[in-house]
Amino acid sequence: MSAAGKTAVITGSNSGIGLGIAEEMAKAGVNVVLNSFTDSQDDHALAERIGKEHGVSARYIKADMSKPEECRALIEQAGACDILINNAGIQHVAPIAEFPTEKWDAIIAINLNSAFHTTAAALPMMRKAGWGRVVNIASAHGLTASPFKSAYVAAKHGIVGLTKVTALETAQEPITANAICPGYVLTPLVEAQIPDTMKEYDMSREDVIKNVMLQRQPSKEFATVEQLGGTALFLCSDAAAQVTGTTISVDGGWTAL
Ligand code: NAD
Repeated sequence: MSAAGKTAVITGSNSGIGLGIAEEMAKAGVNVVLNSFTDSQDDHALAERIGKEHGVSARYIKADMSKPEECRALIEQAGACDILINNAGIQHVAPIAEFPTEKWDAIIAINLNSAFHTTAAALPMMRKAGWGRVVNIASAHGLTASPFKSAYVAAKHGIVGLTKVTALETAQEPITANAICPGYVLTPLVEAQIPDTMKEYDMSREDVIKNVMLQRQPSKEFATVEQLGGTALFLCSDAAAQVTGTTISVDGGWTAL
């Protein structure tokens, strides 16, 4: 695995998929930089635990991905960025006519614009190092749509487009850019949607999971953060050197429907 010994910066990685990817990267010998917008003892302790457990360098850097200058500062402070995982993301669900403008702006800033800023800051470092991997965490909603998720779907389709442009601009260099498109993964982001959906449909938690969330996921199983970490590691391997500008779905068959 050519990724061992490299440094990965993972945005939005004190929870959920980002944390899962950080753990899998560290397990494979990759040094990791964790990030979120908070700066708590727990955040730093998390990085320390991962570093000790896997014998790699692990740091936590606070940076708010809704702010362009903090996105760029994250990469600069990391000092090295061989692998960039653009993962930070938020969700808000409402019909377009009622969708709050500030929620639209926040989702586009965090889920899409941040990846532009981090990529812009990381590419010169990757070029200098002579190797690089950009892995954008898109979504099944980067390829298909659902009602009431206008900002999220727009941002995720946008990040798939950004991935393709990044790949074309680096096509003749030892740098690749790809997007992973997960279906539903049981993380705090998804957990937070369950109570409202239970109320909306007057359903039990189990019915919401099976008949609403996993309704479009033919496997009827959540994808796991470990599986997403494994997919990200594959994209960082020698075997994936010619895999660029594409999407990999980890969605239990959702986008095959
Ligand atoms: P999560 O809520 O568990 O994690 C989101 C992470 O982003 C957290 O670490 C949070 O602190 C961070 N974050 C939020 N706002 C931030 C900001 N302003 N600056 C820096 N960090 C910020 O959610 P998750 O499910 O792990 O989602 C991670 C990514 O995966 C998102 O981009 C999401 O859209 C995508 N995704 C999730 C699912 C799913 O089913 N969970 C499916 C497809 C795609």
